[in-house]
Amino acid sequence: MSDDGLSRRQYLSTVGGTAVTVSLAGCFGGGGGGDDGTTEITAGTAPGFPPFEMKEDGELVGFDIDLLEAVVDETDYTLAGWEEFEFKSLIPALTNENIDVVAAGMTINDERDETIDFTDPYYSSNQAIVVREDGDFSPSSLSDLSGRPIGAQKGTTGESTVQSELIEPGNLDESNYNSYGNYVLAVEDLQNGNIDAVVIDEPVAQTFAAQRPVVIAFTYETGENFGFGVREGDDEFTQALNDGLSTVRDGSTYQDLTNKWFGQQ
Ligand code: GLN
Repeated sequence: MSDDGLSRRQYLSTVGGTAVTVSLAGCFGGGGGGDDGTTEITAGTAPGFPPFEMKEDGELVGFDIDLLEAVVDETDYTLAGWEEFEFKSLIPALTNENIDVVAAGMTINDERDETIDFTDPYYSSNQAIVVREDGDFSPSSLSDLSGRPIGAQKGTTGESTVQSELIEPGNLDESNYNSYGNYVLAVEDLQNGNIDAVVIDEPVAQTFAAQRPVVIAFTYETGENFGFGVREGDDEFTQALNDGLSTVRDGSTYQDLTNKWFGQQ
């Protein structure tokens, strides 16, 4: 991956757990949301996951933000705005009807599929193990993390990987695992020397490595696919998003957004 654009970008840390509604009124042409009889929907995300979603100068930006907006633009729905949550609160926010769609680099998996539905996949990822750039710890497999303080973000597949591959088989004591509200806090604790490794989605690891004194020690293949999360049974909306996604993929928009946020591939 090229670092084009990423290293230049000023990334501002986010620590919020509070939901903030960012109004998009005025961003959409003609009359504003809903006036023309379209259904308004609200999207939810969890900033601190660059380049998928992060805050830049107080503004919510990222690949997921641009992609979902482009996809919704292809449908009869209107995006009323974005709400921000910690990652682990996104599925409850969706089922409670605080939001209608999750765009947060969320991996499609069976456990989540029991509570919510997903659109078709829009991005693939594996897990990466990130360490300090100037440190003397260079693990090359998960078992090398044994006995080390490590971290991941609460409620993520990175956390599940730590649980199923390290804690459950007895390779890591539960007390060595640190769970963070967001990945920025985890990576900051890594930089500070409070933990020795962070388990995180590979494209996000690459972004942190381009912006902070951390490196990817190795990757762990999980073959994950990200999808937008939707409420179970919201089939008409899900279908509209899938149609929108395929239109965006067939045209140049998907490639343009990939180039914008991940550099030329
Ligand atoms: N892809 C991971 C998951 O779904 C992490 C997502 C995130 O931290 N935003 O659990």
